[in-house]
Amino acid sequence: MATTDRSMFEAMLQEFDGAARILNLEPGIWRILTAPKRQIVVSCPVLMDDGEIQVFTGYRVQYNISLGPAKGGIRYHPGVSLDEVTTLAAWMTWKCAVAHIPFGGGKGGILCDPTTMSRREVEALTRRYVAEIIDAIGPEKDVPAPDVNTDAQVMAWVMDTYSMHVGHTETAVVTGKPLELGGSLGRREATGRGVMLTTRESARHLGFDLRGARIAIQGFGNVGSVSAALLADLGAKIVAITDWQGGIYDADGIDIPRLLEHVAVHKTVHGFTRGDRLTNEQLFGLAVDVLIPAALENQITLANAPDIKARLVVEGANGPTTPEAHRHLHDRGVFVVPDILANSGGVTASYFEWVQDRHGYFWTEKEVNERLEQKLCEAFDDVLATALRHGVDMRTAAYIVAISRVAAVTRMRGMYA
Ligand code: NAD
Repeated sequence: MATTDRSMFEAMLQEFDGAARILNLEPGIWRILTAPKRQIVVSCPVLMDDGEIQVFTGYRVQYNISLGPAKGGIRYHPGVSLDEVTTLAAWMTWKCAVAHIPFGGGKGGILCDPTTMSRREVEALTRRYVAEIIDAIGPEKDVPAPDVNTDAQVMAWVMDTYSMHVGHTETAVVTGKPLELGGSLGRREATGRGVMLTTRESARHLGFDLRGARIAIQGFGNVGSVSAALLADLGAKIVAITDWQGGIYDADGIDIPRLLEHVAVHKTVHGFTRGDRLTNEQLFGLAVDVLIPAALENQITLANAPDIKARLVVEGANGPTTPEAHRHLHDRGVFVVPDILANSGGVTASYFEWVQDRHGYFWTEKEVNERLEQKLCEAFDDVLATALRHGVDMRTAAYIVAISRVAAVTRMRGMYA
């Protein structure tokens, strides 16, 4: 694999290897599933507002496309690397397989700092990047979506650039679009809704009632805020929420609609007048039933895992728990719902968007939510049954489910040579 820093990829392989060993995966299939199928590196020249030409490096990786078109976001960030994009594409492969949707795993990224760029520069960069990778993407090939620093507007530019090249409007080339351009109702809330559903199913399995259960959430962005609102609707008490500025604690339960109004104005939960101040460090040690990390990666480490008192951890974020911290939590009997299951509601709703675009027939929000619930609950049941059958944690079980599905179609399709 052409990359300079393999650390992230190695960490993914550790998770993969644990499950592959339990499955007794044959060495040939093991080799296929641990090698990215396609890594594309492009240079994107852009005429900047100051009249200078800058050249940005862009990546698109299709890790595995045995189950269907590659699916995965496009990230704009100064820290983007081929190693990172490849690892994220691998995670998308396992996430789509666990969610049981007919997609492979992909990811894209451009090394840039969009916070220092004008809207025109971001649009020009997006269009040039799409033109550079255009042969590799398409509704049957690879379907991008938003990720860090990309949004519905960027997806509209991706869709338009692709459509201009093929000569007709092709909405199904990308998901996470504005509703008017073939986006799906319920997509924005889908990841948080999936977190709520997997929390509900876990509580049922563990035998406690979510009504009155105490929940702490790190992050109050898309995933954290929707999870909080939907769990509060189920009667849970959201007692603590933090974001990048700090947070709040209210033993009686935070008033989520009011907090949403506060954040709409102030862009942070900090300064909310009800409740006590709370730091991110304090959040992890609170006496709660459920802890939901929904902000960043590597937040639960060996430094704070021993303080965690929650009996259930639901990973809304991608990669919030280090492998060592995860082992520690599991050994202490904490039930951890892994990211590739807990936050798979987003990609499942993306699949629904792609299906609707291809049919040209759009579902009501109720239909989207009902189908999402059915898919998420089936995925949860599959992973839980696998965990119980093999006597392993939910993360290893999710990998077992994912690897089994991708390995099965690889064997069925046979070797083309
Ligand atoms: P977002 O940008 O909307 O929100 C991120 C939240 O995290 C914000 O409240 C921010 O203040 C907070 N935060 C940032 N730095 C922090 C810090 N140092 N300490 C505490 N809080 C901090 O992002 P999002 O879409 O909600 O995504 C959150 C996580 O969920 C990410 O790991 C993302 O990859 C993952 N995820 C998101 C989706 C989706 O559909 N949005 C799908 C799957 C996974």
